[in-house]
Amino acid sequence: MNLASMTAQVLQVIRRACRPLSKTDIASATGLSLSAVSEHVERLTSEKLILGASVGMSSGGRKPKLYTLNEKAGWIVAVELGTASVRVGISDFDCKILDYKSTPMVMNEGPKKTLTRVHELVEGMLDANGIEKRNVMGIGIGFPGPVEFATGLPVSPPIMPGWDQYPIREFWAQYFDCPCYVDNDVNIMAVGEHAKGLNFQVDNLIYIKIGTGIGAGIIVDGKLYRGINGSAGDIGHIDVGLKVDCWCGNRGCLEALAGGKAIAARAKQLAQEGKSDFLRDRLKLQGDLTAKDVGLGLQSLDSASIELIRESGDTIGRVLASLVNFTNPSLVLIGGGVAELGDILLASIRQGVYRRSLPLATRNLAINQSSLGKMAGLIGGAYMTIDQLISSRIDAPETAIIKS
Ligand SMILES: [Zn+2]
Repeated sequence: MNLASMTAQVLQVIRRACRPLSKTDIASATGLSLSAVSEHVERLTSEKLILGASVGMSSGGRKPKLYTLNEKAGWIVAVELGTASVRVGISDFDCKILDYKSTPMVMNEGPKKTLTRVHELVEGMLDANGIEKRNVMGIGIGFPGPVEFATGLPVSPPIMPGWDQYPIREFWAQYFDCPCYVDNDVNIMAVGEHAKGLNFQVDNLIYIKIGTGIGAGIIVDGKLYRGINGSAGDIGHIDVGLKVDCWCGNRGCLEALAGGKAIAARAKQLAQEGKSDFLRDRLKLQGDLTAKDVGLGLQSLDSASIELIRESGDTIGRVLASLVNFTNPSLVLIGGGVAELGDILLASIRQGVYRRSLPLATRNLAINQSSLGKMAGLIGGAYMTIDQLISSRIDAPETAIIKS
């Protein structure tokens, strides 16, 4: 391993520590000698990637210097593409979001039109925050479909014409002189929760995003599991054995029964059948219903809305029980727009899982609401990008850690 690559590894250790580290801490975490650590630390300090301060405790004599990541080392642009909306954000080098914006956008307008609009949003946000483009170190994109991570190319994303194999990285290279990384949106959220929501305290977890569709991100032994083509965790089309048509062409898919789109469709049906006054009034007022209306129904104690969410939670819980039996995680996090509708969904999911999982699989299992909430995609996108920026220098030819 060459010098630059070892320096990058020291940076990675400091970054992942979630607390200031002394040179002795770094030496024991990396297996490097103290003098070698000093050399790398000096290099990282001179490149302004880390900061040192004399605040450590000492048994006597001089207080040891403690080192932390320099959050002002550079800016990261994070983008979360969704099938119906897009969220863009700017983060510092420690994944703190400086500014963000969410706007409705339809992915099936094709990649060029969508990305051009996203690019305008990003440029506007950089301008508004007085950030020069040359200070953007990387761009991280979450994509709502399978992605081949090594190339950043979408792989046959469903109902998104034109996106299959579209070179998203090359699009950004036209405007920015920094690397761009693309991964599946749910993978990015799982990574964000693992790193920044949980500070690496939980190493086996499943993150479930319940939005328009349903997907999962799987962290095994501290690492994201992508599978061979990047489609691991694509649980939306698992057969739950009920006769409901799915847009994918199959019947009985989880997503077709319990996703946001399915909840909205079922709510409309309940309204039309006169089974809920609340939903009927909303439908009359708006002409259509979304899962959010069902959320409002929960708040108004509308019994049809409550029953609908309970059924969805139970269906998701049943699929989750199999995943839990199969992967034996210690934590399941529920995120995404539909997950924010309220505790009834979470309670029904929990019930579904505990009822159907093996006792050993649930002995140490917690099922909680996502801690990063709406920000999981942007924080995770920034985290993944910085991780890649640093990792690409590990075992890379002798170069500066990150371009200055
Ligand atoms: Zn399907």
